[in-house]
Amino acid sequence: METPQRILIKNALILTMNARKDVFYGGSLLTEGGKIIRVEPGEIVPEDVRNLRVIDARGGIVMPGMINTHTHLGMSFFRSLADDRKDRLRKVLFPLEKAVVTDDLVYWASLHSLTEMIQGGVTTVFDMYYFEEAVARAADRAGLRAFLGETVVDSPSPDSPEPYGGIAYARKFIKAWKDHDLITPAVAPHAPYTVDGPHMIECRDLARSEGVPMTLHLNEMPFEMEQFQKEYGTSPVVRLDELGVLDEGVVAAHCIFTDQRDREILKERGVGVAHNMAANIKAAKGVAAVPEMLELGIPVGLGSDGPMSGNTQDLLSLMGTVSQVHKLVRLDPQAMPPSAVVEMATIGGARALHIDGITGSLEPGKRADIVIMDHSSPAMFPVYDPYSVLVYGASPRDVDTVMVEGRILMENRKIPHLDMSEIRSRGQEFYQKICALPALNELGLQAVRPQN
Ligand SMILES: [Zn+2]
Repeated sequence: METPQRILIKNALILTMNARKDVFYGGSLLTEGGKIIRVEPGEIVPEDVRNLRVIDARGGIVMPGMINTHTHLGMSFFRSLADDRKDRLRKVLFPLEKAVVTDDLVYWASLHSLTEMIQGGVTTVFDMYYFEEAVARAADRAGLRAFLGETVVDSPSPDSPEPYGGIAYARKFIKAWKDHDLITPAVAPHAPYTVDGPHMIECRDLARSEGVPMTLHLNEMPFEMEQFQKEYGTSPVVRLDELGVLDEGVVAAHCIFTDQRDREILKERGVGVAHNMAANIKAAKGVAAVPEMLELGIPVGLGSDGPMSGNTQDLLSLMGTVSQVHKLVRLDPQAMPPSAVVEMATIGGARALHIDGITGSLEPGKRADIVIMDHSSPAMFPVYDPYSVLVYGASPRDVDTVMVEGRILMENRKIPHLDMSEIRSRGQEFYQKICALPALNELGLQAVRPQN
């Protein structure tokens, strides 16, 4: 992977996403040693041009690398399998994972997902799956900034024959990876309905003692809300708060069903929320009260959820959906302006992960996590309002260059350090294996057949 010492990006429409939301037309940006050292509205003429790489953005939008706050990278070879079936989690997903998920599958499926992330302008991802050690190897190879949560559930899982075996796996995984430059290991209790109170507390204690984040699905399922109402007379958010589980280190995915009390608790405890609009509406679950959360000051970022739920891991298309659905729900065209959505995809996501001190905006001192958009496609012209163009018009085909800590992962849409055909052919092998699973026939999924 190329590691230039210094990069000058010139002739750029820069969305800084700083506190003033400065936008620079014809701006320039200079990086050194993986950090941004200058961002300016005009031309930067560096005195020292040694070891300087100059990139002409040709008027394209230069923005902070996007942050995907919730996904399951290792599920990309399950995409489009059993879409729209009822009770898919228990009837299809859990049995399928038990039958087929291995360290090897997770490695290649994660690498496959990570190429999708890079192509879509994502530079930081928060993953939650099994065999996180394999995800970490894939993220290290791909070069993204990654938060990787080992899943903990109350039943045997693909990497742990014992219920709650994920806790022991996480303990080892955290020790092995916690000093990595770009990778932050984490604990991921699956959800309040699959992890009981004592184990939730054990996960919290592990995260706190190791100083790593914790992530979980929260207030996501109608049955989850009913179950907690019946057992505890309250919501999962309130119950977890009573257990002392919620704090600044927690990123809660979904939070579709929240009332004012839930939201006040999330705010008070400093919990970050991962808003997965595309997955939530595809499953017809509901729409999280994100405008209310933002008004209260809860840090909210965008998440694609896994490729079986989302189904893409493309935040550019997701941004349009987020804006449109919130406006439709409120019958108010101003309910979710494009600049607020771009904020959630960048600095908002960084706040949710508590890494806004190092990434999420283009400001001197921050890491050089940068995306350059090409604006030559018809949908990207003209640019009266760059936020509108991004939210309502852009797609991954418009992402030209992506860098993380000043390392160029993709340039001119090429990712030289990853062998795409090798990843695809390994994916093909797993796909054939999944198609041949007797379990699929038992589930009435005979329509699945090998294809090239
Ligand atoms: Zn999820």
